[in-house]
Amino acid sequence: MGKVWFVGAGPGDPDLITVKGRDLIASASAILYAGSLVSEAAMRWAPAGCEIADSKDMALEEITAWLIAKAQAHETVIRLQTGDPGLYGALIEMVQPLDAAGIEVGVVPGVSSAMASAATAVESLTLPEVTQTVILTRVEGRTPMPEGESLQALAQHHSTLCIFLSITLLKKVQSELLAAGWSEDAPVLVVQKASWPDEEKIVRGTLSDIRDRCIAEKITSQAMIIVSPALGARHWPDLKKSKLYDKTFTHRFRKAENPVINEPGNE
Ligand code: SAH
Repeated sequence: MGKVWFVGAGPGDPDLITVKGRDLIASASAILYAGSLVSEAAMRWAPAGCEIADSKDMALEEITAWLIAKAQAHETVIRLQTGDPGLYGALIEMVQPLDAAGIEVGVVPGVSSAMASAATAVESLTLPEVTQTVILTRVEGRTPMPEGESLQALAQHHSTLCIFLSITLLKKVQSELLAAGWSEDAPVLVVQKASWPDEEKIVRGTLSDIRDRCIAEKITSQAMIIVSPALGARHWPDLKKSKLYDKTFTHRFRKAENPVINEPGNE
């Protein structure tokens, strides 16, 4: 019996797969990839003779049946998924039937599109004294949101929100954030196909105009919405600096010149 690895392929750029993921692909006998988003370029690491299939037309049962059949015949089988497999990746639904079939499972994390979107726009999702919290979420579409997780409820924190799977629901994003007390001119960043060579689009706007801007750019899929009080900080003249590199701040690896703060637990 072989092992099935759920490997995060990263957000699109084939160079953004992890070394571990790439090495596993290079040793795989069978790879099932999520066709709609995973760049075929990720296949470049597969060995000659490796069986490669696209799951875009398969239902869950077919996917798990394929993985089980291959794991019964081969040592290393890969399910290649976009971004990180643990975010909106139906991971557990696929793991349960493998567990039931007695097949060993491993997960290799991937660079999520949330991180890739912030990176390409040179944004930090956390900023000292502005926000130290990131919420990864989506708005309710066909998939219902659990109790207490409406965007309006989550947005009350005024922390960074990375909103997946919601680009066609921008109207709802706007109204829920306004209802949570965000202002019409709050900055919003939308990145389509973050990190995809030659296909990435970055759109910046405000809560009130981002929808029109996305319509003008014809962005209707594969896009990340980031709303955050930290957006645009690159251009702030009065940025609060992180304690980590403050010369008056002692931590485990550096002694302060004139220590003023040394809270326990700050490393
Ligand atoms: N596991 C993935 C998310 C899968 S859900 C991850 O960690 O990124 C699919 C949603 O992810 C899309 O609707 C979009 O919101 C986002 N997404 C995936 N790839 C993207 C990319 N390259 N650029 C921007 N958003 C992306």
